[in-house]
Amino acid sequence: MQQAVRVGILGCGVVGAAIAYELSQVPGLAITVLDRRSPDQWEATGAALGVLMAALSQKKGGSLSRRLASLQRYETLVPELEARTGYKIPYNRQGILYLCFDQAELMRWQATASLRASQGFLLKIIDLAELRTHYPALSHARALDTAQPLVGAVHSTADRQIDPVRLTTALVKAAQDQGVIFNFQTAVQGFRQTTAAPRQVKSIQTQQTELAVDWLVLASGLGSTLLSTELQQPVDVRPVLGQALHLQLPQPLAAPDWPVISGLDVHLVPVSSREFWVGATVEFPDHYPDGVIQPDAQRLAALRQQAIAFCPALADATVTRTWSGLRPRPENRPAPIVERLDNYSNVLLATGHYRNGVLLAPITAEKIRQMISTHL
Ligand SMILES: Cc1cc2nc3c(=O)[nH]c(=O)nc-3n(C[C@H](O)[C@H](O)[C@H](O)COP(=O)(O)OP(=O)(O)OC[C@H]3O[C@@H](n4cnc5c(N)ncnc54)[C@H](O)[C@@H]3O)c2cc1C
Repeated sequence: MQQAVRVGILGCGVVGAAIAYELSQVPGLAITVLDRRSPDQWEATGAALGVLMAALSQKKGGSLSRRLASLQRYETLVPELEARTGYKIPYNRQGILYLCFDQAELMRWQATASLRASQGFLLKIIDLAELRTHYPALSHARALDTAQPLVGAVHSTADRQIDPVRLTTALVKAAQDQGVIFNFQTAVQGFRQTTAAPRQVKSIQTQQTELAVDWLVLASGLGSTLLSTELQQPVDVRPVLGQALHLQLPQPLAAPDWPVISGLDVHLVPVSSREFWVGATVEFPDHYPDGVIQPDAQRLAALRQQAIAFCPALADATVTRTWSGLRPRPENRPAPIVERLDNYSNVLLATGHYRNGVLLAPITAEKIRQMISTHL
């Protein structure tokens, strides 16, 4: 009998979990996922809003194709995971409504809409009258900084939003059911590797055990820098902080068919008729001389004020929770990094997803599967 090909995945955020699930469907692999956290603690994935913004993007080329392909994979992935696990994964299929406060910007979206139509994605330009009829709560929306009133909106019907933690939990369960082993609270202490070029990692050393591998996948978000440094091939991934808040209204506001409301880099994510997630700030480490990023209370307050400027009824909402997380952003190169680690024949990087790790998790997993499958 042929021996199974052993794959070690380091990191079980949304990216590592998506890879584990995808690989669990490839016959002949024995997969183990290691994570230093416990199953109920989260890093970037636990802070994410899960907005899947692909069609509503001005990106071009490979970056756009990856976003659109990943978005499309969600349409089958969500029902597939729900059927396999019995878990309900909150998934908003109402699209994203992008608010415009600048006529020139709205014109640019008109041009993008024609292009997306040719690619099979609808970006519907909505004028003020229609907007007021469908979304009266947004009638008086304005930009906080410039006080510009709303000039129109773009409704991207194909874009989505998903609960990132519920998604990741379902991916883990589905992968587990397919035989993947998950070891949480397991810190990596080092690697055993060959020295001749190209190098190969032979095993992962932890406090408890040594795990022999044929392939190593680094899906460790911000932890990837240390792990790749351990392999003498540092990959520079740095934190960019994001803050968000949960608002609860005394009475219902959002109809069940409300999409995510976006504009000026602020998302209002309806999580029930009375509740919204609002996010997220973008805070760079170089604003902080000691290298430790402290959430900036003023930025969080400005976020809330912009949400109220979009939808004045939110002024009555209570802030029931605030949180922050660190996005893994590659330094001096585009996000994400999904490739073989230089000088190693069996180490794959799936990291640095920065602001779109939830969106890009399925396409990342598919690429890792292709990279491994071609060698089987
Ligand atoms: C406020 C906020 C809002 C966001 N909103 C969105 C959004 O709307 N849409 C979107 O697509 N993205 C969003 N993002 C970005 C998204 O959260 C990230 O891109 C994504 O979660 C990255 O996933 P990951 O699995 O690579 O990283 P993580 O979730 O950080 O997971 C990495 C895992 O690796 C483990 N690890 C690290 N080092 C080691 C080690 N040495 N040994 C073992 N395990 C290790 C960690 O414990 C962790 O569990 C948002 C981020 C923030 C902060």
